[in-house]
Amino acid sequence: MIDRSRNLAILGLQWGDEGKGKLVDLLSARFRHVVRFQGGNNAGHTVVVDGQSIALHQVPSGALHTGCFLVVGSGVLLNLEVFHQELSRLSQRGVDVTGRMIISDKAHLILPHHIALDQWREGRAGANRIGTTGRGIGPAYEMKAARMGVRKGDLKHPDSLQERIRASYEEVRLLLGAEAQLPSLEAIAAQLMEQARPLLPLIGDIQAHLREAQAKGEPILFEGAQATLLDIDHGTYPFVTSSNCSIGGLFTGTGLSHKDLGYVVGVAKAYTTRVGAGPMPSELQDASGDRLREVGREFGTTTGRPRRCGWFDAPITRHAVRTNGADGLGLMKLDVLDGLDQVGLVIGYRDGEGGLVPNLPSCAQDWACLRPEVRMYKGWTQATRGVRSLEALPREARIYLDALAEAAEAPIAYLSTGPDRDEGFAWPGRFLEGML
Ligand code: GDP
Repeated sequence: MIDRSRNLAILGLQWGDEGKGKLVDLLSARFRHVVRFQGGNNAGHTVVVDGQSIALHQVPSGALHTGCFLVVGSGVLLNLEVFHQELSRLSQRGVDVTGRMIISDKAHLILPHHIALDQWREGRAGANRIGTTGRGIGPAYEMKAARMGVRKGDLKHPDSLQERIRASYEEVRLLLGAEAQLPSLEAIAAQLMEQARPLLPLIGDIQAHLREAQAKGEPILFEGAQATLLDIDHGTYPFVTSSNCSIGGLFTGTGLSHKDLGYVVGVAKAYTTRVGAGPMPSELQDASGDRLREVGREFGTTTGRPRRCGWFDAPITRHAVRTNGADGLGLMKLDVLDGLDQVGLVIGYRDGEGGLVPNLPSCAQDWACLRPEVRMYKGWTQATRGVRSLEALPREARIYLDALAEAAEAPIAYLSTGPDRDEGFAWPGRFLEGML
């Protein structure tokens, strides 16, 4: 009998940057396989080790644990140039992944003309910009759906590679016009083969790999990138990413089934942030928002763009808990709320007529008229930074956390009280106890 109950998924419940990387890093030591299943180099985690932070975009965060086998799933998009840069940064830090990585042969590639198309579109969209990272992620997923994508498995057939690329390349050329600065088709294929050569032995069938792992009783950790409110189906469309970053993406991005999963940890900050445009009813455009941004260091890791900040938004988190079937919360960055006189919790939304809105709207236009219903809680004077037990939490923080968990409809399984590995604790009596 195969025991799948130990397989665990970590998924974002807000608009990303929740601190998933820390939790994945903490837990990976307990797992033999760590799997990335969607997203491209538009996502990424920051993990802090011995006070030094390392940003990982495409390589699974388990890289830092030598006992972890790294699996790049079929739903992941790889930009090979960036992938190599990441591997070499890891190797400069003494992290070697040789012999412990497999890349799905079904995973698609990001090509130079995908990037050109992405930037061309964002450049001409004016006020309607989605605010993509301009790294070709959207176009690469579009080409996948249009059956014009190029997969890792295609790299094993160099003779037909150019033909595989041709259809998407010619379409982009037509759209961008003759004056667009694009490398030639031949140059793209040649560069791809050059970049792919050292990776060819790693390309394989990850579904079979994970099945074998399960047969051997080896536990698997699935690490989500981005988050549910950015999910192309269940997020704030069209201000979303181009993949399913909630639970469905785990299954399509690995070929495993729901029966292969034991637990789902949904990760959220003790407040809310969002990067770029799109609905965010909890946004605070005042000194409280500025304070969350400064103390929480809410600035984009690559662009330095300030993130929009607000109180914890229970309606969006509850939606994400339900969508993912989250068994518990990984609640991060409680320490950022230290020292506030009052802490807010968005418990619901009211529409233009003042009526309570029971479910999240699907259209951006309907989001625009929502007003958050905020309940204020007394802040705490004693700092929570570095607190490692329930007993050491200030009483006011406990009251706030109990209300938050009830409103989000999920118990807190892990509470994070600082960026370092040992700042935080697994909630006593809940499923992560004994795993950290
Ligand atoms: P991810 O994409 O969800 O992994 O999120 P990020 O990589 O953007 O991580 C969020 C940032 O918050 C990182 O710089 C972490 O080191 C930091 N962080 C994680 N947990 C905590 C915490 O409990 N308190 C504080 N102050 N920072 C944290």
